Amino acid sequence: MKISPVCEIRHTRLACFGAALSLCLLLLAPAIARCQPTATEDQVAALNLITAESLQAHLSYIASDELGGRGTPSPGLEAAAIYIAEQFRKAGLEPVGNDGYFQTSRWVMAPVVREGRTSTRLRLQPWEEGTERPEGAQGEPFLLKNVVGLLRGSDPELRDSYILVTAHYDHLGIRSGVAPDSIYNGANDDGSGTVTVFELARALASAETPPGRSILFMAVFGEESGLLGSRHYAQHPIFPLRQTIAMANIEMIGRTDTDGVDNTGNLNITGFNLSTFSVPFVEAGKHFDIAVFRHAQNSLPYFRRSDNIALATLGVPAHTFSVGYSHDDYHRPDDHWEKINFPNMAVTARTIGLGVLYLANSDEVPVWNEGAEGVEPYLEAWKTLHGGG
Ligand SMILES: [Zn+2]
Repeated sequence: MKISPVCEIRHTRLACFGAALSLCLLLLAPAIARCQPTATEDQVAALNLITAESLQAHLSYIASDELGGRGTPSPGLEAAAIYIAEQFRKAGLEPVGNDGYFQTSRWVMAPVVREGRTSTRLRLQPWEEGTERPEGAQGEPFLLKNVVGLLRGSDPELRDSYILVTAHYDHLGIRSGVAPDSIYNGANDDGSGTVTVFELARALASAETPPGRSILFMAVFGEESGLLGSRHYAQHPIFPLRQTIAMANIEMIGRTDTDGVDNTGNLNITGFNLSTFSVPFVEAGKHFDIAVFRHAQNSLPYFRRSDNIALATLGVPAHTFSVGYSHDDYHRPDDHWEKINFPNMAVTARTIGLGVLYLANSDEVPVWNEGAEGVEPYLEAWKTLHGGG
């Protein structure tokens, strides 16, 4: 079996430098055994609970006209939050928000103030309890919700570390003057990631063997309004960020008719070369015959365009999974669930689940790749987070 590059570098350097070959092999044997990605048979089997049918059943509701495109804020977004919380409850996750499965925050619409000049454009702005009302704020404040549920790890040495599995459950809502369909259903963006988060929760929580590390499943609000929910979490983490070893964010894994090619069996990770996060997922892909790779053009630009960046900016190795990027219905009312490739989405979701298990069961953690193009701000943030910067 292939071992991860992290292990190769660490153990050849530490164990083998200057040592006689036989001694080196002796030292390496246990190290390699520890580095192999592992998941128990029952954990892998539990991933088969995620099927094309189960994903379609959930996504046809999340992306239905009834939810009105899940704008932030809107009654449809609220209904989606309640639905996701219910899935977390059924899965048996621990409610770890300030209000059960909800991590709530208080917001108000207020004009943008830039360089002392107030524009007429209104924007969502946080208005925390007990702080001054933002200047020019309109109407009453309201609550927005990240939906959070914890699957507690079982390894005494690993369980106080956390892996985030996330997606944004908001989309663009309803926009007037777009005939004949004014509802932006956001089935692929990011209904696909949203249902994958709670389906992964259901599968992993159903396995007899819990993961070694703890896994926090989270659906965030306000991505389309400027990564509001993920940024709120980054500023108010439920578990310390220095104990958060990785964030697996899932965006647009439903459509395979993307980027002008057939992306069936393909899975990209943004910022692929920036950290060793990808390694266990490439291994997981081999198990399910999914090619997990770096997209030549989009890997780096898209790294900064989704919720992962809120955590990466603070040093946590955080990346986003996508099957493809652009398609004709991207950010248009026609992003409908009927266009999702559900069989492919099921295998993709299982692949992500297996990679998460590999991370959760390993005593290795993802690290930023020193020297990788564009890694400096994240590496610096990591050092600050871990007290070395
Ligand atoms: Zn999105």
